[in-house]
Amino acid sequence: MAEPVKPGAVTAKRGGELRCRGWRQEGLLRMLENVLEIGERPEDLVVYAARGKAARDWTSYSRIVASLERLGDDETLVIQSGKPVGVFSSSSDAPVVVMACGNIVGHYATAEYFDELCDRGLIMWGGLTAGDWQYIGFQGVLQGVYELLQAVSREHFDGSLEGRFVLTSGLGGMGSAQPLAIALAGGSGIVVEVDPDKCDRSFERGHLASVTDDLDEALASLEDAEPGKVIGLVANAAAVYGALVDRGVVPDVVTDLTAAHDAVFGYCPLDCSLAEWRELRQSDPAGVAERARWSMAVQVRAMLSLKAGGAVVFEDGNNLRVQAQGAGVRDAFEIDGFAERYLRPLFCRGIGPFRWIALSGEQSDIAELDRLVVEMSFRPEVDSWISLASERVKSQGLPARSCWLGHGERSRFALAVNGLVSDRKLAGPVAFTRDHFDSGGMTHPHIGTENMADGSGAISDWPILDALVLSASGADLVAVHAGGAGYAGYMQSAGVTIIADGSQGAAGRLGRGLDADSGLGVLRYADAGYAEAISAAKSAGLGLRPEREDRP
Ligand code: NAD
Repeated sequence: MAEPVKPGAVTAKRGGELRCRGWRQEGLLRMLENVLEIGERPEDLVVYAARGKAARDWTSYSRIVASLERLGDDETLVIQSGKPVGVFSSSSDAPVVVMACGNIVGHYATAEYFDELCDRGLIMWGGLTAGDWQYIGFQGVLQGVYELLQAVSREHFDGSLEGRFVLTSGLGGMGSAQPLAIALAGGSGIVVEVDPDKCDRSFERGHLASVTDDLDEALASLEDAEPGKVIGLVANAAAVYGALVDRGVVPDVVTDLTAAHDAVFGYCPLDCSLAEWRELRQSDPAGVAERARWSMAVQVRAMLSLKAGGAVVFEDGNNLRVQAQGAGVRDAFEIDGFAERYLRPLFCRGIGPFRWIALSGEQSDIAELDRLVVEMSFRPEVDSWISLASERVKSQGLPARSCWLGHGERSRFALAVNGLVSDRKLAGPVAFTRDHFDSGGMTHPHIGTENMADGSGAISDWPILDALVLSASGADLVAVHAGGAGYAGYMQSAGVTIIADGSQGAAGRLGRGLDADSGLGVLRYADAGYAEAISAAKSAGLGLRPEREDRP
């Protein structure tokens, strides 16, 4: 096996020079390098979500790089759970890379069996955007948390979070988006994080007003209720949430973004130091998982009490309720899931976490695209997000922008950008991609597809169909992922990346791929009976072709 690299040793190439035979391959290679440049533990190939990896091991990584460098425009590289297995002849309108990651047939899809297969080096957890190289750092979830808080404030607080206290936890790869999202939404709050280095990182980024390990001090700092003031509290979430219940302090909004889905690597048990946790997850994974689930049960009981006390409480997509329910909290699902409760109306219109990455490495390309997206006047929400993001959000790694566009909006924008690349108005090509947590991309009955109106929330035909239609459309990278560790057996998702290199071929792939992807999402919700989706499908002409009158 190749030697592991040191942290920081992998960085994404910038500039116009190609190592590959075209921008499609070069773009994907830069995306792979980028997720390691900005990942949480690049030395272990871990990008985010406790152990979401970019490649199976360093040998696989080197072989993927070498394959992309040699790959012709009419060839497709096949990757199985982060390990490249073969190159096949295809066509210049077929994917450059197809991959499947973490998929285990139903009966066997348990966290324990997944771990066993992982230990035997046969499979890996690719998260949603780690294994297929689409992670853009905390910005990837930033707008999601922001949109969510906006929806919460519209529903519960007359449209403003000003003067409201948000309590949450976790400042990891995704969780570190929370302080800025709370501030952008005008709230204030406390983020509990067990690792002081993660608090310091968010403080250095300017996202936390201060860091303390004292709950009283954190509460006192919030008393002035200055909008946008977010405090980092170095402590265990289960302990802090319980302590607030004991003191009768009820925040306005309560959630959590520890990596609770992974009971071994993602959640530090109560009464366990950080050093002890790190040691135990190697020496006694089963023991640490049991303690972690017990601690999650303590935290969820506290969240239920805070809900009873008047707080708006929801799970933010980390499987916390499932873990707590498994540890005996029978009413864990009294807590709402964020997607069903607040985001579904957007998904019904194909609006979800779309994003683009400037492969040149030039920030000026993102500024140009910020201008373009506003000029194209999609919706007022898009304009206000871009205005906030362009001022307050600093990209990690290759410059990127997350922007929740909907069906039809995505392809129109991407085609306009492809035109700019063709006219050499940008420093280089642009990659278009999205989170798997999108209308067509995900089946997760406790996240995206919780309580679907027709009871179809566990049917994973939809993300599989999404990947198939994306392949048929010639998207540059198509991935089918399923859950590892605590998500095992709970989720299936599809990912896509398409490179706008300014060519006619790219225009075709962008138009077909982006419309098929978001279009299938709208149809998925229309099929489940949601009125917004039925009307969106109708106005976009989605569905079966009308019967031709002249047909016999
Ligand atoms: P991560 O592993 O990078 O970070 C988790 C953080 O939680 C770490 O910093 C860890 O120290 C901290 N932590 C663990 N136990 C704790 C405890 N008991 N008290 C306080 N802090 C504790 O994970 P991540 O990438 O930030 O992802 C977090 C979760 O969000 C995952 O479950 C992931 O799958 C989920 N997720 C949700 C969305 C969404 O759209 N809502 C998107 C992506 C990921």
